[in-house]
Amino acid sequence: MFESLTTKLDSIFSQLRGRGKLSESNIKDAMREIRLALLEADVNFQVVKDFVERVREQSMGQEVMRSLTPGQQVVKIVRDELGALMGGEHRPLSIATRPPTTILLMGLQGSGKTTAAAKLARTFKDTGHRPMLVAADVYRPAAIDQLRTLGASLDIPVYAQDDSQDVAGICAQARETARSGNHNILIIDTAGRLQINDELMQELRDVKTVAPPHHSLLVVDAMTGQEAVKVAQAFDEEVGIDATILTKLDGDARGGAALSIRAVVGKPIQYIGVGEKLDALEPFHPDRMASRILG
Ligand code: GDP
Repeated sequence: MFESLTTKLDSIFSQLRGRGKLSESNIKDAMREIRLALLEADVNFQVVKDFVERVREQSMGQEVMRSLTPGQQVVKIVRDELGALMGGEHRPLSIATRPPTTILLMGLQGSGKTTAAAKLARTFKDTGHRPMLVAADVYRPAAIDQLRTLGASLDIPVYAQDDSQDVAGICAQARETARSGNHNILIIDTAGRLQINDELMQELRDVKTVAPPHHSLLVVDAMTGQEAVKVAQAFDEEVGIDATILTKLDGDARGGAALSIRAVVGKPIQYIGVGEKLDALEPFHPDRMASRILG
């Protein structure tokens, strides 16, 4: 049966209760377990290596705190370090002084981008804003229909131009429409591809020039693990991202992608998707993700 990392660390240190220092050999065993648990959670190898080294340094020479068992103490160090690595507490997306606050959603096809656009719009509507969605995935009529259906179910308007493939033009026009219609939040659902390609990246750069977004968010599928890290790295280098939305965390993904993306790409995780329904979007909390990885 699957034993959580917390349990494993507790059993390594079980004979070492009470006062004194954590012993070197116990720490070595504990670091091995931590390394394995993180690799199992699909965390990037280099990130694991650096992480374990930091935890080891902190654990060495630690006096055992009276209130904790040695195992609990190392778990605490691991938890604090995981939290630090994944960034500080969640900060809501800032609202521009001159509306509309423009949010550009990017990502590969199937990552959950269109769903995330609708979820995000719903969140803003629920907090008293007047969002508008933009269907800028012009190559797949089904994608435009999907966004229209989602928008209708939320009673949120969707801007689309069925006969145009001028994505940058559509976004610029959408911004004017939002302004005149008094919509203060504009969420742009861009095209996805099965893989990263130059055309897509150029299109996104064009959109950013014509309708400069206040927030460029990359939607990535947590189930793809380390692949998600590569995708995030590529989008950040080619187009530039401010933060990510990590989807499908209701599946078996253990959260390794969250840790690696933050550490490798250096961009925070803004939200997590935890289901197909439109209310299944949550602010990202590093401490909760740390608990998930720790088990
Ligand atoms: P897009 O191609 O990136 O726009 O992806 P979609 O928004 O169409 O989503 C692709 C599939 O993933 C759909 O079946 C969604 O219902 C599903 N999906 C999106 N987000 C989540 C999530 O957080 N959890 C789960 N379980 N499924 C999701």
